[in-house]
Amino acid sequence: MANRKRLKSVTIPVSTFENVMKQFDQAAVKLNIDPGLLEFLKYPRKSTIVKLPVRMDDGTFKMFTGFRVQHSIVRGPAKGGIRYHPDVTLDEVQALASWMTWKSAIVGIPFGGGKGGIICDPSQMSLGELERLTRRYTAALMDSIGPEKDVPAPDVNTNETTMAWIMDTFSMHSNHTVTSVVTGKPVVLGGSLGRREATGAGVVLTVREALKHLNMKPEKSTAAVQGFGNVGSVAALFLQRLGVKVTHVCDVFGGLYNPDGIDIDALIEYVKENKKVGGFPGAKAFDKDEILYTKVDILVPAALENQITAENAFHIKAKIIAEGANGPVTPDADPILQENNVFVIPDILCNAGGVTVSYFEWVQDRMGFFWTEEEVNLRLEQFMTNAFNDVLKVALENKAHLRLAAFMVAIQKVADVVQLRGIYA
Ligand code: GLU
Repeated sequence: MANRKRLKSVTIPVSTFENVMKQFDQAAVKLNIDPGLLEFLKYPRKSTIVKLPVRMDDGTFKMFTGFRVQHSIVRGPAKGGIRYHPDVTLDEVQALASWMTWKSAIVGIPFGGGKGGIICDPSQMSLGELERLTRRYTAALMDSIGPEKDVPAPDVNTNETTMAWIMDTFSMHSNHTVTSVVTGKPVVLGGSLGRREATGAGVVLTVREALKHLNMKPEKSTAAVQGFGNVGSVAALFLQRLGVKVTHVCDVFGGLYNPDGIDIDALIEYVKENKKVGGFPGAKAFDKDEILYTKVDILVPAALENQITAENAFHIKAKIIAEGANGPVTPDADPILQENNVFVIPDILCNAGGVTVSYFEWVQDRMGFFWTEEEVNLRLEQFMTNAFNDVLKVALENKAHLRLAAFMVAIQKVADVVQLRGIYA
């Protein structure tokens, strides 16, 4: 297998929701849960497709398609981000919504799972066009979303500004200000301190725990980070603060490499100005498609799903994969990675820091009383380390890898709630 040709990019048509269902099924067979109940837990409760006419800057109208999926509301309101991307599909949004259900259960926050998406290319749209699209999408979903029903947040290509528009549109339709309808808002609009960094910070907390478990020292470890957006850049920064040498990073345009470690603080400043990592003076250019195969201790895929598949998993040299993105490793890649002793920290655990601080934001909005950044970070650390250790315990007890254990923990938690609530009929 060693001479298997490396794929420059992996373009296998894949149903991401089918991938989640495989992950679900592998864990479900280990649990003693009624098959009918499992069916209920597996599929989304509600998938909405909305058509969105938007007036473009040149005066023409363009039609967009948006989705919002509520996978589960068993443990509380549906919760999850909204992504803007040309390749968004209903299948992908259903998968992402399902992962949110399991993520919320693992960290023990009282939410179900949801996700949204709009098929669009934000890089080709003006701020005004994006605002009109976001407001139209929010108006179309007035019946579905709400602080007690379904609470969106940022995801790929959406940010604080997008959340401010959603909050304002929802509030205008409600005739009063409703801050807790979305999380990931600007701090002055009821956002939480520490939310912007939370996903990347959480990723690094799980890496810290994994290093402890594997008897590896941060200061003797190297890392590569795929993606330099909100998750990748913060994960790289916090890895560096932990003492790890971050030798490789990339964004969609290109990669960077420095064997002595890239100065991530300086790179973040550079990217603010230049909107890409390419050209940064403190490192050499590097083929971004090779980043997954670099010889580092820790690999953080923090871009999109379906990056590591059965086609290329053989080439992974990292000892730890920390899934900053949702779904970067496909189910058929998992057994290959296990065989090669790669310790995978699964997305539903690894990147749960974002939704955890989203929960803190929702709590603060509803209390109308805001916490200091230290309080947020301390609580995030407690939630993430507890979640990691709960999953690790189940993994060790069942001789299971972490993804299987994470799904077992999550499915059991949601099933227990259904059993106690009972099925209404
Ligand atoms: N989009 C993030 C995720 O995939 C955050 C979701 C949230 O905060 O609700 O976990």
